[in-house]
Amino acid sequence: MSTSETIVSGMARAGLSPSRASVERSRVPKTTRPTRFERIEAEELTISAPLPRSATNGVEWLPVPGWDLSWLWAGFSTRKGGLSLAYCQEGAPPELNLGFASADDPETVLANRRLLAQAITSDPETPLISLRQFHSNLIVQADRADAARAHPHKADGQMTDEPGLLLAIQTADCIPVLVADRKRRAVAAFHAGWRGTVKRIVETGVGRMRLAFGSRPEDLIAAIGPGIGLCCYAVGDEVLSEFESQFSYSRELFKEVFDTDPVRRKYPMLFLTQRAPGHSPTRPSLHVDLVEANRRQLLAAGLKPKAIRVIGGCTQCHNDLFFSHRASHGYTGRMMAVIGIASARKHSGC
Ligand SMILES: [Zn+2]
Repeated sequence: MSTSETIVSGMARAGLSPSRASVERSRVPKTTRPTRFERIEAEELTISAPLPRSATNGVEWLPVPGWDLSWLWAGFSTRKGGLSLAYCQEGAPPELNLGFASADDPETVLANRRLLAQAITSDPETPLISLRQFHSNLIVQADRADAARAHPHKADGQMTDEPGLLLAIQTADCIPVLVADRKRRAVAAFHAGWRGTVKRIVETGVGRMRLAFGSRPEDLIAAIGPGIGLCCYAVGDEVLSEFESQFSYSRELFKEVFDTDPVRRKYPMLFLTQRAPGHSPTRPSLHVDLVEANRRQLLAAGLKPKAIRVIGGCTQCHNDLFFSHRASHGYTGRMMAVIGIASARKHSGC
């Protein structure tokens, strides 16, 4: 017999009947977050890092497996290659920071961007169009004039059907998503952190491609680039609430993960005194899988599962290969995901 039943029967024996409200209250199940999600050890979730391709100019970047279309430029940068000294260890080789920040010289960043353009298009002068990203679901249609803008558009997605341009998304943990229309030759790039994901930037973006270019979902291919993985992306309950308010499948995107802190993993003895004897391990934390969340949005937008490539690699786990905002406590460079339609002049021979 439960405690509440004992109380109720005790009151009945004493000639007292409990109020309806107190009975209802006693029947309300106590829901606590820890019982709602699959629990898992962080080590089991670790994703191996993808192997970069080395360009002749020293840039190490990640192509999309299977995307060998001659008209399509696409790839994801790593932190390797480049000329920036702002974020590397003393004595380590310079790096490919592609984001403007006070810590790095703007000329160095521009030179790095030219190196990336060269690695992917064979021409360092290929215009590279970036955005002022702000975790929205705003998507703009880009053209050649945007490459010359002093202030890039404020948006988190861009698309074009104009050849000879590279559309770029900057990340350092957030998820970059590239989409290409094989039939109509149009491309798009999206920035999906948790806020943009909740705002359905990728699903919205595919809709925008349909409107602007007449893209049919069955003709689209997509690549989800490296970002912070389920292994490392601990979030607060407010993130869970936002996902639950938006997605019927939100519960499948969350896991409860033990021992996610790399310092704690590396030096467990330091933390022993924080636990009562016999009470290992520490409380699990709630993690969200942004890669899967964005894959689900591509599927919801009508793409076939086999048309979606996941590049893999966790930016925080593989901080030697990728810039990671979380791993570097906010002081870090930016990588770029780029996509474009190869210049016609390259193929026409004129
Ligand atoms: Zn990780």
